[in-house]
Amino acid sequence: MNELIAIIEDEADISELVSIHLKKTGYKPFKFEDAKSFFRHIAKKKPDLIILDLMLPDADGFEVCKTLKKDERYSHIPVIMLTAKGEETDKIVGLEIGADDYVTKPFSPKELVARVKTVLRRNSGKKETEGARRIQVGRNVVVDLDKYSVELNNKKISLTTTEFKILELLASNKEKVFTRDQILNHLWGQEKIVVDRTIDVHIRHLREKLGSSANLIKNIRGVGYKLEE
Ligand code: CA
Repeated sequence: MNELIAIIEDEADISELVSIHLKKTGYKPFKFEDAKSFFRHIAKKKPDLIILDLMLPDADGFEVCKTLKKDERYSHIPVIMLTAKGEETDKIVGLEIGADDYVTKPFSPKELVARVKTVLRRNSGKKETEGARRIQVGRNVVVDLDKYSVELNNKKISLTTTEFKILELLASNKEKVFTRDQILNHLWGQEKIVVDRTIDVHIRHLREKLGSSANLIKNIRGVGYKLEE
């Protein structure tokens, strides 16, 4: 970890609270009370993620986000927007101009830290796949091939060995369609004694456990299954 997190927020108690929680989790937070001081700093040192308040004394958070996303030096840095406004239109505008996530005040610092983790993980999905053998699937699912575990929205979900193996096969070969027979071979090799409709049952359970991410697993009628993001 030790990722640098820039907090641009003029309310000192909020930025302090966020900063404390980020430090506790192992991140390195830097606080800025206005856009000007932030832009002065970023020219010298780039953060790994930016937490950006919508209403700053010297700028509109939307404008700050737009400026960042238009600049190729900074456009890759994920931005989480903070605001007192809970209106859906603000959220949509924020996401349209390139913010990666959005947290409405009052928020729990723990929730914000969880969002920071998710956004950073999403952004470095590839790196992690190579290093720790973790596969990011869609926005919210991570398959850990070493630990045989699956996380949904940062929470571990419990899968049977069979469900895990099916997900592992599909996630390791995104977009590739597998027939039921191929999935059975992956599970049991030549020793298969089950009929291929068993796969449908396992897939159904797997989808149930994946909740809102269930639609990542697609049924290709008459052929089999694939994972599509
Ligand atoms: Ca503010």
